[in-house]
Amino acid sequence: MSAKLLKGTEIREALLAEIKQEVEAIKAAHGVVPGLVTILVGSNPASLSYVSLKIKTAHSLGFHEIQDSQPADISEAALLALLEKYKRDDTIHGILVQLPLPPHINEKKVLDAIDPDKDVDGFHPVNVGRLLIGGKEVKFPPCTPAGIQEMIRRSGVETSGAEVVVVGRSNIVGKPIANMLMQKGPGANATVTVVHTGTKNLAAHCQRADILIVAAGVPGLVKPEWIKPGACVIDVGVNRVGEKTDEKTGRQVAILRGDVDFDAAAKIAGFITPVPGGVGPMTITMLMRNTLNSLKFRLGI
Ligand code: NAP
Repeated sequence: MSAKLLKGTEIREALLAEIKQEVEAIKAAHGVVPGLVTILVGSNPASLSYVSLKIKTAHSLGFHEIQDSQPADISEAALLALLEKYKRDDTIHGILVQLPLPPHINEKKVLDAIDPDKDVDGFHPVNVGRLLIGGKEVKFPPCTPAGIQEMIRRSGVETSGAEVVVVGRSNIVGKPIANMLMQKGPGANATVTVVHTGTKNLAAHCQRADILIVAAGVPGLVKPEWIKPGACVIDVGVNRVGEKTDEKTGRQVAILRGDVDFDAAAKIAGFITPVPGGVGPMTITMLMRNTLNSLKFRLGI
């Protein structure tokens, strides 16, 4: 393998240490800590495990953390009232509603009711607009794209003037990362192409990329011959391709693969993210940073 591994697990530790230090400094100077509430409706096992990881991370950083668990039959009106309550709560700087919601609740209506100034996931239309405008307008970049940008920044790979190709145009990864990297400013200023299922020659576009970001959800979609030698390859895909027995616990665990043929790609790329352990660990970390930033906006620091 010639590519340098970009490990989200390592970058996460560095970032969390920085956030923790800042939380302590703000607490000492202003007597407040970032506050995060996660609203969980029902008891979907995947949501429970994701929420508990968020809570554990928030606690480890010294955040004021509330897990607000609501029954699966909560009414839409009651959920909207809860969002209004947290909007007015000055100790809360980030509000999350864990998806999916039960079918009797209109998900869009609920997400649109989150205070845009506490929308640390960054999916509220106001924050999508702010991201598009760029610069100082941006408050909460969505967490996975923000993690990708941070990984590229920490790799030392130059984005300014780089050819970036993004495979996928979802609202949570493809569109926001393309938008972020085309902005004028540090860690961006790239020439960005977005490709998708309507693209005629996927391989030709990928072959031009100095930075190739793949978020398609198709295991092994990107072939090694599509990669420009020395390119920085960010594989966002997380695909469950089977199960295996975990050696330590003896439990059945998922076998995960990315969207890039990793072993072959690593011989050609200059930098590459592994799956798992690449982009994945960055998402919750960036959520914590958005929550800290929300408090900083509130304090005007
Ligand atoms: P998504 O909403 O399903 O979007 C996939 C995008 O890829 C679509 O724009 C689709 O094109 C495009 N695409 C699919 N197959 C393609 C093909 N054969 N050729 C070209 N384009 C293709 O997926 P997502 O939510 O962005 O997630 C993508 C992957 O990233 C998934 O594996 C997901 O699990 C993973 N993910 C990881 C994290 C994390 O690590 N923290 C976070 C989010 C997502 P069309 O628009 O034309 O259909």
